[in-house]
Amino acid sequence: MSVEDLPPLSHVIAAHGLSAKKALGQNFLLDLNLTAKIARMAGDLTACDVLEIGPGPGGLTRGLLAEGARRVLAIEKDARCLPALAEIAAAAPGRLEVIHGDALDVDPLAHLTPPIRVAANLPYNVGTELLVRWLTPPDWPPYWQSLTLMFQKEVAERIVARPGSKSYGRLAILAQWRTDARIAMTLPARAFTPAPKVDSAVVHLTALPAPRYPADPVVLSRVVAAAFNQRRKMLRASLRGLAPDIEDRLVSVGIAPTDRAEQVDLERFCALARAVAGT
Ligand code: SAM
Repeated sequence: MSVEDLPPLSHVIAAHGLSAKKALGQNFLLDLNLTAKIARMAGDLTACDVLEIGPGPGGLTRGLLAEGARRVLAIEKDARCLPALAEIAAAAPGRLEVIHGDALDVDPLAHLTPPIRVAANLPYNVGTELLVRWLTPPDWPPYWQSLTLMFQKEVAERIVARPGSKSYGRLAILAQWRTDARIAMTLPARAFTPAPKVDSAVVHLTALPAPRYPADPVVLSRVVAAAFNQRRKMLRASLRGLAPDIEDRLVSVGIAPTDRAEQVDLERFCALARAVAGT
């Protein structure tokens, strides 16, 4: 049996008793046309290994395999999903490895060979943490070429937000510093089973060969976290803890000490991180 001949996902869910668990962020995509569309958004998979987090009953996994992924590594926390995923693995011999575990604990490089792309309908409770980890390795470029990720729409908007908007903050800076990030598609809540309370969006991020502006990732993260933790305060107040002469350093990179974080663009945040690091 090939991947295309596997039974509909509603049958798979019924056969394996996969009632959705809220604590695991389980909102499944059962429309295989939709999961195929998301798999295509991940780019040309034919020469790539793909990392998928939270395959659940395997709708997106099937799409990734059907799109020709060389290999897929799927990390799933819920043991109840493993038999359904084993059926997909049997239909794609040698191309699907399933790890039962927490995505936060697995080193994908021990299982995959570059070039690697990441594609996932993420569990909402670990989605942001995984994204920040993918964006902040000490060295760049990272092990992955692209990330194609489903988020709650409000989180997707934070990733692509521009200065001056309410959504602009740490996620926008970290994502736009080292990737090209865009919303590829928005989905209504009813596309999922069960339907969550909010709409969702797929974000596609492509790793840049080098960061847009030089900065130490640890220092930049610290500066941005401090600036946006108290986003309504003036920067001279919110950043006071970073350096005793923070006002001089702000002025030296063209930022008014009375500005608020929301008004500062990526280039000036990187310049400020360099000024704070003393380079
Ligand atoms: N990919 C499937 C789909 O599109 O229908 C399921 C998506 S559902 C939003 C999230 C999946 O992530 C669930 O199957 C859940 O069990 C799994 N999950 C939750 N926390 C996890 C973690 N820490 N590590 C790995 N998988 C996790």
